[in-house]
Amino acid sequence: MYDSAHAVTLAEIYAARRRIAGRVTRTPLVRSGALSRRFGAEILLKWETCQPTGAFKLRGATNMISALLEERGRDSLAAGVVTASTGNHGRAVALAASRLGIPAVVCLSRLVPEHKAAAIAEFGAEVVRVGESQDEAFGEVERRVAERGMTLIPPFDDPLIVAGQGSIGLELMEDAPDLDRVIVGLSGGGLLGGIGAAVKAIRPATRVTGVSLSRGAAMAESLTAGHPVAVEEVESLADSLGGGIGLDNRCTFALVSQVMDDHYRVSESAIAAAMVDILAHEKRLVEGAAAVGLAALAEHGLDVRGRKVALILSGNAVSLETLDRARAMIGR
Ligand SMILES: *Cc1c(COP(=O)(O)O)cnc(C)c1O
Repeated sequence: MYDSAHAVTLAEIYAARRRIAGRVTRTPLVRSGALSRRFGAEILLKWETCQPTGAFKLRGATNMISALLEERGRDSLAAGVVTASTGNHGRAVALAASRLGIPAVVCLSRLVPEHKAAAIAEFGAEVVRVGESQDEAFGEVERRVAERGMTLIPPFDDPLIVAGQGSIGLELMEDAPDLDRVIVGLSGGGLLGGIGAAVKAIRPATRVTGVSLSRGAAMAESLTAGHPVAVEEVESLADSLGGGIGLDNRCTFALVSQVMDDHYRVSESAIAAAMVDILAHEKRLVEGAAAVGLAALAEHGLDVRGRKVALILSGNAVSLETLDRARAMIGR
């Protein structure tokens, strides 16, 4: 199943950084005084929420579309790019494509709420409503690839997507060359795989810790099984961490198994408390998926005393209603 031609090298991550420079924000890595005191460690926060789409996925999408333009030429992308993501990846493809002058279509089921569709259209994509499920929306993507010659931009399982997310790892190593540990939310594995590939190539001693949901953690279950498995989708405050890794996964499953040192699962109440803590102390709102690193530190008592630790605050796609739900869950 794993094809070593799909491994992601440090050279590919540097190439990604060159392509995305000026199109994607180089995000700040900022020491948190409150969290550093609380854990007796040096806690550094990587604010991916500063991306114009509010999440890191702009890195991968911009790298992939730019690389295809370079390698195959503009004519090959004349029919445009297409994807089926309801969230941060949909916005990322929309903005990356429109900045590069390429048409973009995002296929969504009719059940996806209108405000999510509007948030994607706002970044310059055409939103096509089709079917009653994510699978049916993906069927429409496949039809457009086969019949109209559109190009699929997948959310994580492509070396160009992974290399784009890996640019975060280069920035971490520049801003904190003696980093002891990085704690990363894990879903499809593009984010952790990319950061891990960069960090392990530059400083192998830096520990790479993955965090996923207590239920419906497809990558964690697949690693335990030794091959990709499907899991049931569950409601979560960290909805960006839901979804499978693809039973025909060709890139991120093998990569994550190589670069991840340890892994934790976090409860909904720990995610809620971490979101509220970040808002209270850092005065910025992050989505549940971005708060899982802090949730793992708090819930599992990871031994970080005296260490320099980076948390990836991956995105801010969260409504005030969801924040209210998180606050009600923990009573503060
Ligand atoms: C997509 C996403 C993740 C997980 O990234 P993967 O590459 O799927 O593991 C984490 N946080 C946010 C905000 C995301 O949008």
